[in-house]
Amino acid sequence: RIVYVNGAYVPEEEAKVSVFDRGFLMADAVYEVTSVLDGKLIDFEGHTARLRRSLSELEMPSPATDEELLAIHRELVARNGIHDGLVYLQVSRGAADRDFAYPDVPPTLVLFTQEKPQLVDSPLAARGMSVISIPDQRWKRRDIKTTQLLYPSMGKMMAKAAGADDAWMVEEGVVTEGTSNNAYIVTGNTLVTRQLGPEILSGITRTAVLRLAQEAQLRVEERPFTIEEAQSADEAFITSATTFVTPVVKIDGQGIGAGRPGPITQRLRELYIEEGRKAAI
Ligand code: PLP
Repeated sequence: RIVYVNGAYVPEEEAKVSVFDRGFLMADAVYEVTSVLDGKLIDFEGHTARLRRSLSELEMPSPATDEELLAIHRELVARNGIHDGLVYLQVSRGAADRDFAYPDVPPTLVLFTQEKPQLVDSPLAARGMSVISIPDQRWKRRDIKTTQLLYPSMGKMMAKAAGADDAWMVEEGVVTEGTSNNAYIVTGNTLVTRQLGPEILSGITRTAVLRLAQEAQLRVEERPFTIEEAQSADEAFITSATTFVTPVVKIDGQGIGAGRPGPITQRLRELYIEEGRKAAI
């Protein structure tokens, strides 16, 4: 596999990042994951816009222009022959003597690809996921997409231990989001998802799906919901760049609606993939 590190395309075995890199030492890094369908990037502008915001919130210098980032994404997709999969991009503050204060050094830019043949024909999307609820114990700036992913990893392991696929995190009695996705419920013609704020990441897929839902004449309510409300909803689902729209059919052991992927969720998945392909670059 060919990866990109600070201006160079190199085989992964030859790629080098300093042991003093702050991404490695302090999770002082932000990232983006963009999915690829038919060799093209889905929602690329959304991901670069959010990357800009993450960088600016952390006063991290920009490693490249949007045009340069697009060119690097395309080059890596081509060099690795990616048909369906993803491009991972990470910017860290760079390498410097260990100190909590930000150093004035160039950022480290790393990108790599991953082929994922079942992105569209996902078995999980066909059968629907089960989730458990866990307390949200992450830091309080979840709107910044940092590489501090230890608690979400713990959540995923708690889910695995409970025989579930993922976890929905709960804070002050209401759902924030999934370990690596936004969370939704559908009752009748109404779609509910938590409003944006520092408590959750503003998903790029979320923005697109809310627009598609409105175009499909669904009522969209951006507000918090409880696990109990979710358990009595007709449908539930998650969104993220790599899962698109994926149904949730069980929450804390309780079946949702008919206990299988619901029609609105399936329709939104189809619409998102269809529209995503059309607009891909
Ligand atoms: N929320 C969290 C915590 C995430 O990690 C992610 C994606 O990785 C999302 C939501 C969904 O964001 P996006 O749709 O941009 O992938």
